[in-house]
Amino acid sequence: MKEKLYTIPLNDAINAGDECPFCHIERNIEHDLMDYVLGSGSSYMESNVRDLTDEAGFCREHIRKMYDYGNTLGNAWILKTHYRKVINEMNDVFKKYSPAKISFKEKLAGSPDIKNPVKKWTDKRDKSCYICKEFDKTYDRYMETFFILFKEDDEFRKKVMDGKGFCLHHFGDLCEYGEIHLSDRQKEEYYPKLFELMKNNMERLYEDISWLIEKFEYQNKDKDWKNSRDAVGRGMQKLRGSYPADPPYMMKK
Ligand SMILES: [Zn+2]
Ligand SMILES: [Zn+2]
Repeated sequence: MKEKLYTIPLNDAINAGDECPFCHIERNIEHDLMDYVLGSGSSYMESNVRDLTDEAGFCREHIRKMYDYGNTLGNAWILKTHYRKVINEMNDVFKKYSPAKISFKEKLAGSPDIKNPVKKWTDKRDKSCYICKEFDKTYDRYMETFFILFKEDDEFRKKVMDGKGFCLHHFGDLCEYGEIHLSDRQKEEYYPKLFELMKNNMERLYEDISWLIEKFEYQNKDKDWKNSRDAVGRGMQKLRGSYPADPPYMMKK
């Protein structure tokens, strides 16, 4: 069964006991992709890989991570040919530019619906990212596998329900994918349980953060930290996903 491919990393992610198993998977895939694109295998010197990075480029988050990764020469090679691609596209957009027709109403409102073709193009560029694109390709399969295991594997379902829940970002996706992968009867059974799981875990984070603040009070200085020492990083992850407390992922020497 094809899903086998995704079952092991998904189980590993659940077993890791982080604030969100999908953040865990996302981070692993992201690191693998950075090793692939920029790592010691030097894929960036292969024209088929560079064609892909030239075309897609990298989003703000991933371009920052590529910088932190630390392969200066590799980054320069990737940027050089990507620049050529971007400059050609830009020249094309400039050549085709003609002033937009703006209605009186739009002038009054002070902001036209994007009518400027240069802005349209820079928006498209902002969203385009090789790493995001490659991750998206497997994300559907992880979501699908999650629901297969959740429905059929009692142990997996128990681990999820006894676990720490998900970050809000990935929980939203999970709810969306659940609409496709669960029957009406299963939705009636599982959605309330998953909502309960999220409620309890959001409250848990709230308590961890609250106790962290109280620990700064003089009279609490000798009291136990409980689970609050790393509450800011985990609290941020729960709200927005990813691992804010992670050090930069760097090239292996
Ligand atoms: Zn997440
Ligand atoms: Zn990206």
